[in-house]
Amino acid sequence: MKTTNDYLPHPIFAADENRVPRVLLAPQRYIQGNGVLDHMGNYLSLLNARRAGILVSTRGQQADGARMIGSLESAGIDPVISTFNGECSLDEINLHVGYLESKSVDCLIAIGGGKCVDAGKCIAYRLGVPVVIVPTLASNDAPCSALSVLYTPEGVSSGVEFFPDNPTLVVVDTGVIANASERYLVAGMGDAMATWYEARVCLQNPNAITTIGTRPTLAAAAIGEMCAKTLFSEGQSAAEAVAANQVTDSLENVVEANTLLSGLGFESGGLAVAHGIAQSYTAVPIVHDNYLHGEMVAMGTLTQLVMESKDEARRVAEFFAEVGLPIHLGQLSLSADDKSALDIVSAATMEFPFIGNMPLALTPESILASIIEAHELGLAVADAVGDTAYRRLHCAST
Ligand SMILES: [Zn+2]
Repeated sequence: MKTTNDYLPHPIFAADENRVPRVLLAPQRYIQGNGVLDHMGNYLSLLNARRAGILVSTRGQQADGARMIGSLESAGIDPVISTFNGECSLDEINLHVGYLESKSVDCLIAIGGGKCVDAGKCIAYRLGVPVVIVPTLASNDAPCSALSVLYTPEGVSSGVEFFPDNPTLVVVDTGVIANASERYLVAGMGDAMATWYEARVCLQNPNAITTIGTRPTLAAAAIGEMCAKTLFSEGQSAAEAVAANQVTDSLENVVEANTLLSGLGFESGGLAVAHGIAQSYTAVPIVHDNYLHGEMVAMGTLTQLVMESKDEARRVAEFFAEVGLPIHLGQLSLSADDKSALDIVSAATMEFPFIGNMPLALTPESILASIIEAHELGLAVADAVGDTAYRRLHCAST
């Protein structure tokens, strides 16, 4: 993995590779509820903040950002807005660091989608101030973790940065999530469902390591298992709640699964081949341009599961079909005949740093065979249960 800042967790936690400790990472506070955005001023009192940098897109400044700024101002906190231009790239990060440094902010709030959240962590680390994450989508598990994925200005994945601290506060307003597109919540379920299956592999394989080079904790695996259980039982009704712009108990539970449970579970439970395949799909332009991270993770998870347990693979494929996640290559705008694209994916997966967490030795050929097997399983499931949800989500634009 290429990293672009000066902090690396591996030499700290995994100095002796024969005796690797278990480590659990987590944000200091996780706050979730309908309307919590209106109380940001209260939460910021935990940090003694007086002047808060706010990383937010132009669109966000008119909507959720404006509400939050109102709460900060009534708490006597001076907001300094830095407009996020959409990419978590070093160019963009340095731009914000320069501006916010000149304003002497004492914390940074990143409010927006996954890239804004990740860029916020990079900027706060460089400024040496605490970071507060306010995700406006539940489409991925970036908010709670102490790492960011970096991209080139053109949007191609270019590396990862680790940080010594997780976000100080993560504040999730479920009223905001309920008003976003259903496709985002469903993509978050795809990212979250992988958590348990990847953590399980890492727990069972004594040689497996987490993203920070340590052994997984039982706590992280239990959190991952609870995450999957919540999605199976409440994923469908949470998707219906978002489609109707309503905050229900199911939506609260699934937002927690997508954001907190998945975030803690992946970071301290470990990743495996599901995320390797998902990252590799981004190397195929038609997939990169048209699908969300969690949708690629869904296909990666099915591929990992056909390597492990056909029954579980089928159960997960049926759930994915029910909520509208991709389950066969056609639903990623590919086909089993796209040999060059699939060769790119299987070769890139071999480069994924956590591929060794799988208990079986993988080759590009065996990965390709599993991708095809998952695709065929997905076709059979789509034949049996239909693709109504997928079609509904993919007709509407995101
Ligand atoms: Zn992910």
